[in-house]
Amino acid sequence: MAKENQFVEQIADIETDFPQWYTDVVLKTKLVDYGPVKGTMVIRPYGYAIWENIQRELDGRFKKQGVQNAYFPLLIPMSFFTKEAEHVEGFAPEVAVVTHAGGEKLAEPLAIRPTSETIIGTMMAKWIQSYRDLPMKVNQWCNVMRWEKTTRPFLRTSEFLWQEGHTAHATAEEAEAETLTMLGVYKEFVENCLAIPVITGKKTEKERFAGAVATYTMEAMMHDGKSLQSGTSHYMGQNFAKAFDIQYLGNEGSLQHAYTTSWGVSTRLIGAVIMTHGDERGLVLPPVVAPTQCVIVPIAARKGGVIEACEALKAQLEEAGIRVTLDASDNSPGWKFNEWEMKGVPLRIELGPRDIEAGKMLLARRDTLEKSEAALENAAASVKEMLVEIQKNMLEKARAHRDNRIVYADDMAGILAAVEKGNFVKAGWCGCRACEDKVKEETAATSRVIVEGESKETCAVCGKPAKNVIIYARAY
Ligand code: ZN
Repeated sequence: MAKENQFVEQIADIETDFPQWYTDVVLKTKLVDYGPVKGTMVIRPYGYAIWENIQRELDGRFKKQGVQNAYFPLLIPMSFFTKEAEHVEGFAPEVAVVTHAGGEKLAEPLAIRPTSETIIGTMMAKWIQSYRDLPMKVNQWCNVMRWEKTTRPFLRTSEFLWQEGHTAHATAEEAEAETLTMLGVYKEFVENCLAIPVITGKKTEKERFAGAVATYTMEAMMHDGKSLQSGTSHYMGQNFAKAFDIQYLGNEGSLQHAYTTSWGVSTRLIGAVIMTHGDERGLVLPPVVAPTQCVIVPIAARKGGVIEACEALKAQLEEAGIRVTLDASDNSPGWKFNEWEMKGVPLRIELGPRDIEAGKMLLARRDTLEKSEAALENAAASVKEMLVEIQKNMLEKARAHRDNRIVYADDMAGILAAVEKGNFVKAGWCGCRACEDKVKEETAATSRVIVEGESKETCAVCGKPAKNVIIYARAY
């Protein structure tokens, strides 16, 4: 059957060559193209429309948390980075630096932001005077640059789009609570809007953000069993407040350092959507963020009344707030089915003379490939209901796929065998860096997240008493 489908033949087999499948899908569905500078990507309109939907959903959630948007400059004086020792060390290898401008060598080199803690910290120090100015919660939607040697569209590129939230608080408790609240906001968004189940928790010290006291992550399992870090939330303690002098006058009259947080998600989430839900036919997009939620394909389009009926249906669906496309091009219906399937449109409606006469339409779901009939009367209600059902089913399917691939291991051989099969491995850990490093050296798996609420007696690497249970996995 696959041989009859010209589109399927263009995409590498998802089971045997997942990396090539990914490349084929992102290029052929016109999500991205390669930029002229190595390691850069051009996000094309179809990909950018997904990002806009992600932005809209997230931005509303941030505002409900009392976060306000602002914009900080792209260029940051290099001296800012040296103020926080761990931060500068962590980011030094990835920072791109501007040394010349206006035909002259600059007195001080300027970093192109890899992240904005330093400049936002500097501004917060100026804006925060008393306890009345706290908490301060700002977010910016922007691009950042981190020089990368090996790159893949959406997953790792030297320039990418993201949001970075930065908050300052009077107490450690409040800042820690904010860190976890925003992690919770991310988790709810990713599960309900992107239909991707995530495991949230703390990173080990080794995997922690440079300069943070604690880093929390959400890890998602991709189709091939590898992990994708899909967002992080950091508790900075007073590290940045001390380095940048963010001080406030307390209500009892003494000067104190604030406690800060930062949290971010990026266009990497689009990569997560592609690699979680995609199948042998191409993309499968969750309805909440799909640029087109529903495509109408006319059957026997030249027969009288067909296009008119399709246009009326389109108007009815648009009226109900559904993102709908009518494909009235002169390609054959079969060609259109394949193209829209490859582009991952959640629902296809087929409408021909016989359907119109019977007052019906044919619905074809992208997630299950099932077809069903529905009345043209109340079409919008049927379509909306179906989109909700698709969204829900995609999350359940992804959760079942992941849960089937979470296994336990008690020794290094067990960890290796499990990660080779594309599993997440839960194993006891003594808390020492050497054991974490050894797992990476011998299995190419890294510690993804510390599992909450589970315990093991011994470390799978050294056999000493375990402090935590860790998820080890190979990762993007
Ligand atoms: Zn150990």
